[in-house]
Amino acid sequence: MRIDILTLFPEFFSNLSNWSMIGKAIEKNILNLDFINIRDFSKNKHKKVDDYPFGGGSGMLMTPQPIYDAINSIKEKESKVIYMSPQGKLLDQDIINDLSKENHLILLCGHYEGIDNRVIENYVDDEISIGDYVLTGGEIPSMVIIDSVARLLPGVLKHEESYTEESHYEGLLEHPQYTRPREFNDITVPDVLLSGNHSKIEKWKEYESLKATAIKRPDLLKNIKLTNEEENLLLLIEEELNKNS
Ligand code: SAM
Repeated sequence: MRIDILTLFPEFFSNLSNWSMIGKAIEKNILNLDFINIRDFSKNKHKKVDDYPFGGGSGMLMTPQPIYDAINSIKEKESKVIYMSPQGKLLDQDIINDLSKENHLILLCGHYEGIDNRVIENYVDDEISIGDYVLTGGEIPSMVIIDSVARLLPGVLKHEESYTEESHYEGLLEHPQYTRPREFNDITVPDVLLSGNHSKIEKWKEYESLKATAIKRPDLLKNIKLTNEEENLLLLIEEELNKNS
């Protein structure tokens, strides 16, 4: 996969290509990252890339010409142009799963008050937001996409289960996890995990994954098609939670 990031601040990403899973994906030639400075495309003699908004208002807007030329310098038939924007679709694991199947992503980072709307309406395929709050620029949101997509690319993680079992991939949160020591500050890990009984352990994980979701993110349960067995487990969990409340 190739990801091009269009930004006014390529230096913001200086260490990203060496970092953890992203570094691994690049090293294995699974991911190709490029950071493109939008300012290099400005036809203004002072390399200006922003101007006052028509109709007034505070701050400056990024002008369309440098962005348009930057996009066209790399866009191919299969490319998907995504504008990182607080007005976009809220990012979730389903969107990341879909993006990880694309061949070429162009992530457009806005700055100042944002970008001229003609770019968004005519040259952008999708707007994506990382949450209902406003950041200074699209650089951090685009890093969120790069990181979460890179770890899904085939060959990056050793075992596919390491992401298919994680929170959100199948809709539920992941079960609690423990490591050495078996006892820490007089707190022990659940016996079942030390039992060596794999079918019991799997059942425990399933139950605890549902329980974690019911406690921490009950809203997620509305969007998941549970099996009959999971429905029954959930009833037990809800009874247990009601008893303890
Ligand atoms: N004036 C814009 C508005 O109210 O919708 C906000 C502009 S914001 C200060 C500057 C840039 O940061 C945006 O162009 C966008 O690229 C990025 N940005 C800010 N918040 C974001 C979010 N929640 N998700 C994705 N990108 C965001």
